[in-house]
Amino acid sequence: MFENIFIEEDIRDTAKVSEIVNRFKSSTVKYLKSYDDVWGRTKKPYLSKRTNLNLFLAKKKGHLVKEAPNAYGLAGEKHFYFIHAYNCIYECEYCYLQGYFNTPDIVLFLNHDEIAQEMQQVVDAHPNETIWFHAGEFSDSLALSHITGELEAYWEFFKKNPQAKLELRTKSVNIKRLEKLEPLENVYASFSLSPERAVKERDLKTPPLKARIKAIEVARTQGHNIGIHFDPVIYHNDVFEEYAQLFKELAQSASLESISYFSLGVVRFTPQVFHEAQKNYPKSPMFGAQFIKSSEDIVRYPRSMRAWILNKLKESLIEHGATPETVYLCMED
Ligand code: SF4
Repeated sequence: MFENIFIEEDIRDTAKVSEIVNRFKSSTVKYLKSYDDVWGRTKKPYLSKRTNLNLFLAKKKGHLVKEAPNAYGLAGEKHFYFIHAYNCIYECEYCYLQGYFNTPDIVLFLNHDEIAQEMQQVVDAHPNETIWFHAGEFSDSLALSHITGELEAYWEFFKKNPQAKLELRTKSVNIKRLEKLEPLENVYASFSLSPERAVKERDLKTPPLKARIKAIEVARTQGHNIGIHFDPVIYHNDVFEEYAQLFKELAQSASLESISYFSLGVVRFTPQVFHEAQKNYPKSPMFGAQFIKSSEDIVRYPRSMRAWILNKLKESLIEHGATPETVYLCMED
């Protein structure tokens, strides 16, 4: 899976590093002082991840927890994200990581204790507020969780801090570690879903829709809180029929009333990522619709089109059984 594994000198003798290295016996191991001495130093094409991917094991320095932008999650509550990894094993055509980093090589940060300490500072600074922490801003939260094994550490933190909430965002079906953990009222496993055709065409290397719905049902039955993101929605002629079919399949598997929240968001890019995605996927039908650059420097559909798509999908989701208060529109004011 990884051609080289680069390890920071500081952590080379830790048990977690040995455990990870032992999983990838054919990778060449190299040591370095700091991961960013090599990672991203020279431009490595995004699509090289198909044939040549390296892994970096490191400690995250600087800010470990950052405040999320407005409209990131449920309104009225504060949202932060923490950084436990950079890059992803999947390859979604619209992924904002292309063009965001100089390289698709994966970094796993292993200093989860320090990340939890910084989260504690955030919680302590807002004693009367609900604080959300989101994992997976720069990676998938669960795809490699059987290797990284950090969920247990975060579980401890959220047991101790019931007023804080955790969201684990994923497109994977890797719920092995999650299944071993006792469900907590303040922890949410959230799954991103798209209609089956869209998953096959654009969410390259991700598990099929049916497998994701099955994973949701297993986690939900076990007692974990579930969130679902229908994001990014990409417009085409059959979009409403395809989403109605997806909502129907989901409702057949689990009552939508039992899902804690749903987010709906349309595809959006920074100008740089838009340019990179066009370069990487020049034939992708996702560029068939009209895009504009908004005053916030986001490339997305015009406001009226976004409102039309999102309101229609929201209505359809509610018709299929979702409680209106649990549906929010992501990154829309
Ligand atoms: S799962 Fe998320 S982070 Fe991974 S490639 Fe797809 S969009 Fe990017």
